[in-house]
Amino acid sequence: MIILVLNCGSSSLKYQLLDMKNNDSYDLLAKGLVERIGMEMSRLKHQGADKEALVVDRPISDHTEAIRAVLEALTDKKCGVLDSLEDIEAVGHRVLHGGAKLTASKRVDDALIAQVEKCCDLGPLHNPANLKGIYAVREVMPSTPQVAVFDTAFHQTMPDYAYTYAIPYRYYEQYDIRKYGFHGTSHRYVSAKAARFAGLNMEDSRIITCHLGNGSSIAAVYNGKCVDTSMGLTPLDGLIMGTRCGAIDPSVVTYIQKKEGLTADQVENMLNKESGLLGVSGISSDFRDLGQAAEKGEYRAKLALKKLIHGIIHYVGAYVAEMNGVDMIVFTGGIGENNARLRRRVCDNLTYLGLQFDNEANDCRGKDVMITLPESKVKAAVICTNEELVIAQDTMRIVLNEEL
Ligand code: ADP
Repeated sequence: MIILVLNCGSSSLKYQLLDMKNNDSYDLLAKGLVERIGMEMSRLKHQGADKEALVVDRPISDHTEAIRAVLEALTDKKCGVLDSLEDIEAVGHRVLHGGAKLTASKRVDDALIAQVEKCCDLGPLHNPANLKGIYAVREVMPSTPQVAVFDTAFHQTMPDYAYTYAIPYRYYEQYDIRKYGFHGTSHRYVSAKAARFAGLNMEDSRIITCHLGNGSSIAAVYNGKCVDTSMGLTPLDGLIMGTRCGAIDPSVVTYIQKKEGLTADQVENMLNKESGLLGVSGISSDFRDLGQAAEKGEYRAKLALKKLIHGIIHYVGAYVAEMNGVDMIVFTGGIGENNARLRRRVCDNLTYLGLQFDNEANDCRGKDVMITLPESKVKAAVICTNEELVIAQDTMRIVLNEEL
């Protein structure tokens, strides 16, 4: 079954085309990206398997036009991978915020669109863009079934005391203000893959998953279900990230707002776009750049890196305590999969758990590896995430089940 997976941002659209043989076996037929949608000049980068890369620079005014450009690339005579658009049997969308009602992946219909619309207040940077992608596919490929996969869904099993904020309860009742958590697709995928990898019984396991990329979050997964996670109402909470501040005393926000006379939007922008690794280091939001700067002795680059490591150790410790133990700690995402040094520095602080680190095995990047010694009481592993695959799997399952 050929499935197009879309991840629509406000001015970008990432895609992958997967040929799903069955749930676990697939061919990646093509992937690509449209950037700067709606700006003076846009760019489409397309790469088909075993084909020449295609780069198109031209204005692309909106998401509908972007989808048309992607479909053209997919069927391009030279660089394309499909004979006809009819070959695409379903489209799966990454949708950021499903609120408290959308607790699992679902087929797109008018009722679902109305619910995603309702969640736009909760995910103002992403949900409107995700919806644009859904509308665009409806327009361009009206008979192709679509499925929405939510970043928040996996975390909906958190107990009430984990997701409730200690502010007047009416804000929860009126505005649905609570912890939701994000990267759920990744936490779900890597926790299940990690359990299989380590031979754990998912129904009787305690796993902590550390998704570390531009955005980072940690989840506590107890018997296969999420019981806590570090992101909150929005992806701003928790660990220090590329440009997001992570957990801070809320008074910091109002203090700066008053001192500098900032509007709510300005302060939100500062916390989302100017903070995190970039804000602390003053150099970059990218972990690799900071590693280089730290090697040259830059104090603030070192400080930003130490802050991330400190945060990971902090949340892992908290989640071990919440679950009354842990069987396995998982590293994933761009940083988690590629940065051996960070993994070592985190695990050096977990010997209290009986974790025995395997330095040699840890000297790897971008593949699934156990990084603890066989006799280690608590296991740690690098498990590569693949959110697009999960979206394609869910899409196939839902579309096929409905067709039975
Ligand atoms: P996103 O959250 O946007 O999906 P990624 O998961 O791609 O982000 O992670 C991006 C981060 O991963 C960046 O900070 C980058 O420095 C880091 N990263 C990516 N590749 C490597 C690598 N090969 N070595 C070290 N760090 C890497």
